[in-house]
Amino acid sequence: MTTETIEEARPESVSFVEEIIRKDLAEGKNGGRMQTRFPPEPNGYLHIGHAKAIAIDFGMANKYGGVCNLRMDDTNPQKEDTEYVEAIKRDIEWLGFKWGNILYASDYFQQLWDLAVELIKEGKAYVDEQSAEEIAKQKGTPTQPGTNSPYRDRPVEESLRLFEYMNSGECEPGKMILRAKIDMASDNMHFRDPIMYRVLNMPHWRTGNKWNAYPMYDYTHGQCDYWEGVTHSLCTLEFVSHRPLYDLFVDWAKIAEGNDKPLDDNRPRQTEFNKLNLTHILLSKRNLLVLVKEGVVNGWDDPRMPTICGFRRRGYSPEGILSFIDKIGYTKFDALNQMSLFESAVRDDLNKRAQRVSAVVDPIKLIITNYPEGQVETYTAINNPENEADGTHEIEFSRELWIERDDFMEDAPKKFFRLGPGKEVRLKNSYIIRCPEEGCCKKDEQGNIIEIYAEYVPDTKTGEANANMKIKGKTIHWVSCAHCIEAEVRNYDRLWLVENPRDEVANYSKENGDLRGIDAMRPFINPDSLSIKTAYVEKWLTTRKPLDYLQFQRIGYYNVDPDSTPDHLIFNRTVGLKDTWSKAAK
Ligand code: ATP
Ligand code: MG
Repeated sequence: MTTETIEEARPESVSFVEEIIRKDLAEGKNGGRMQTRFPPEPNGYLHIGHAKAIAIDFGMANKYGGVCNLRMDDTNPQKEDTEYVEAIKRDIEWLGFKWGNILYASDYFQQLWDLAVELIKEGKAYVDEQSAEEIAKQKGTPTQPGTNSPYRDRPVEESLRLFEYMNSGECEPGKMILRAKIDMASDNMHFRDPIMYRVLNMPHWRTGNKWNAYPMYDYTHGQCDYWEGVTHSLCTLEFVSHRPLYDLFVDWAKIAEGNDKPLDDNRPRQTEFNKLNLTHILLSKRNLLVLVKEGVVNGWDDPRMPTICGFRRRGYSPEGILSFIDKIGYTKFDALNQMSLFESAVRDDLNKRAQRVSAVVDPIKLIITNYPEGQVETYTAINNPENEADGTHEIEFSRELWIERDDFMEDAPKKFFRLGPGKEVRLKNSYIIRCPEEGCCKKDEQGNIIEIYAEYVPDTKTGEANANMKIKGKTIHWVSCAHCIEAEVRNYDRLWLVENPRDEVANYSKENGDLRGIDAMRPFINPDSLSIKTAYVEKWLTTRKPLDYLQFQRIGYYNVDPDSTPDHLIFNRTVGLKDTWSKAAK
């Protein structure tokens, strides 16, 4: 069997999420309609974890003829910003997805308020004037029931009046909250009279000064889904214990509307899958903001950041990212995926699209002593052997070349198949060359090698008489000194020294009296995660555009940094050609 037929024979693997969707559609739930949403809070830039949520929210809608709306979960004006909204849109588009509508939780503030008023009237919500500490004390524990608030059974009129007061701008934050009246003895802690509204007295970037009291996530999310017509509300595992509350609030909304359809029909269903988490990476916008603010990295799109914009600038392709997400799949188990798996997916994709170029990142001069001074040959280099349509470009050859320093060894062992006394190699696209046994290099006063000498063997280029001459040495890359240009090359190493920064930072914080922010992170941050080098690259690279995918032959995948100009070329190392992660950790 060829690989292709194996692929064909294998049944399509479908995630448990997709199975649920298929079953609902087959049973004609929601009138056979399917709709999802992606609900980021605009309090930071999206990261690779969000790409996993995006892939399933948009992916399922696309596959099953539904719509996926982009809904900004903007219920906390303290931390949100339009800069983030714009960045979120840009990143989703870059990943290749299109939303139906852009919506905001704040679009529903009035509706949520009206519903809250209705719930107070129905005796399902009350204003509690206790302090946060008192309320926390009454919460109980998972094994011990909580205590009812003394305000729990206050008259409806009082709660209505105080709820208005909460939004008046006169009420001090923390003075009172609106709570749902559910069950202080429930096994599910989220049912112990959860908070629906709190006072912030803060303008909102969309609703201005209209609101001073703002709804909480749990009271907001389900109803937004319901009012919008979401059928499948997909989210991550930490929301499992919130689901009964999500369902209850949606039930209450339906009852308040006098919706007489059965409660289990025509409603959004929440399904939870596992978060994406990668080794040597710390996610969560809150943490990433610390790295940006403390200057550990140069902004949200620093190529060391696990943000979508950081990954973009690093040179990972959307297709590579999505193919990785597809490989790890969606399950119900917390996972920590290996960075090497991610990189291998990206590498497979870049192999298909990167343009092959010559760049010498640790240069030493090679002089072809028997090649005439001033003579130049021009060769045609294939841009991408994986895709003929990418065409070719020209590269010049002359007597003086730059090659990689480690392609030469003065006391080369037998098994060193590159240059050294008496050794032969092929120059990529060009001749076979041979170093003399004696005097094959020149040194400076400190004994450092500064020049290497070799002779070319005539007629050994492809198609020439001696092209098939057998040699032991490999093919090495080069650029012509007179025809290349200098470029800045930024090589990145892992930002985190430990495999699981999420847990290490949390433990270290706990062990040291609840350290916060950068103080909890510092011992785990790699101080040498960026090294900048000057390389010599072929001139054709001045024609490449920001973010273009490249392969520096024999070195690694690189891309053009957005700050690069033809006068000052800058390249970011995306990933090496081979896996360096699975080897013993440094
Ligand atoms: P963070 O903690 O990084 O800020 P979040 O969960 O608060 O993340 P939101 O903006 O609230 O981020 O999340 C938008 C959607 O992305 C949610 O449905 C959430 O479940 C999902 N999401 C967030 N992090 C991950 C992750 N690591 N893997 C998969 N999905 C994620
Ligand atoms: Mg969040």
